[in-house]
Amino acid sequence: MEMNEQVKAILAYGECCDHCLGRFFGKRSHGLSNDERGRGLKIALALAENQPYTKFAGSCWVCGNFFEGVPLWADRVIDATRDIEYSTFLIGCRVPPLVAENEEMVWSDLSLSEPEPFKSEVNREVGKAVSARTGKLVEFRKPEVVAILDPLSGSVEVQINSVFFYGRYRKFERGIPQTHWDCRACKGAGCEKCNFTGAQYLDSVEELIGRPVIAAFGAENAVLHGAGREDIDARMVGTGRPFIFEVVSPKRRSIDLPGLEAEINRTAEGRVSVAIQRWADRAEVETLKSNKAHKKYRILVEVDGELSADEFAKAVKTLQGVTIQQRTPERVAHRRADKVRERKVLDIECAGEQDGRFVVEVLGEAGLYIKELVSGDAGRTRPSLAEILKRSAHVTSLDVTQVEGAQEGE
Ligand SMILES: [Zn+2]
Ligand SMILES: [Zn+2]
Repeated sequence: MEMNEQVKAILAYGECCDHCLGRFFGKRSHGLSNDERGRGLKIALALAENQPYTKFAGSCWVCGNFFEGVPLWADRVIDATRDIEYSTFLIGCRVPPLVAENEEMVWSDLSLSEPEPFKSEVNREVGKAVSARTGKLVEFRKPEVVAILDPLSGSVEVQINSVFFYGRYRKFERGIPQTHWDCRACKGAGCEKCNFTGAQYLDSVEELIGRPVIAAFGAENAVLHGAGREDIDARMVGTGRPFIFEVVSPKRRSIDLPGLEAEINRTAEGRVSVAIQRWADRAEVETLKSNKAHKKYRILVEVDGELSADEFAKAVKTLQGVTIQQRTPERVAHRRADKVRERKVLDIECAGEQDGRFVVEVLGEAGLYIKELVSGDAGRTRPSLAEILKRSAHVTSLDVTQVEGAQEGE
């Protein structure tokens, strides 16, 4: 069908605004808005048929004159984002089913090959209007704020995308888990066992860092993504552990990171400290979490019976460079699949004695279970220090002293 014929057929359905008429040919030509396109098509038809041209002034059967409301929608978006700091945004739209039905019917009835959907025009036109009035930029890939229009209810829903920063934390106090744990008895609802806090442990590294973060960013929540995690009873010292903090739904974004670092270190003093290095983004989180970095530990080992430091040091050295077969430890079997894995002891040595215990420094491949490397976990880990010593041995304290960073040379 020739274009003028198509326009005539479209207008035969009922009165149609210039936006909707133009949008049926939205992918033809460039440098025109859909309403210019629609007006042009109507003028071309009037000239071809030598009929009087009449401006659209009625009620559009496709969109119900949605586009007259663009300035009003821009007002609503600006209003809904008034208290939010952002520089880039994107408009989204919940298309009323009737509008989608109307335009899809015309597309298929007339076999139109170059239409643009209602949704794209709404998002673009409202985006342009908001941008013109606020100076903020439309960004498709990683907008800071997304405003979703709902034409049926007249409301705007705002989603604020997370902010991320990268750093390292150290944990000086034992007994603090890395992230929040719901109370085992009540699963977070609050009960007598947890003193109605809903938490198994009152504080976590995540919360000690997160509280000042939430306050500074005016955020809804803050989530710690760590490059692995240490046991609750282990300290994390030395280089600290790399992490990315995700600040969920922040009202402010331009936060001074050195100032934030100082505030965290002040409020968590003696328990946790952070060194914040830079801003980060979501794409880095998976890389960080799958970090296969080697880890270095400093542990205290208690051995049954009398044993000289020399004998002990010799036994320790036989584990150097050895690949260890570890069946999933008893203590984590309830939350991990039971399987045997192989991890290498890259470096190990006895570094002296302290409080009647031996000090051992171990550099292990990522995932090596250190406590079981010493105790043997009732034969589930082999070889083990206990097996070599032919007597029971166990770790009484454990510090992680080094975790390699996410980037080379860091
Ligand atoms: Zn319309
Ligand atoms: Zn509870």
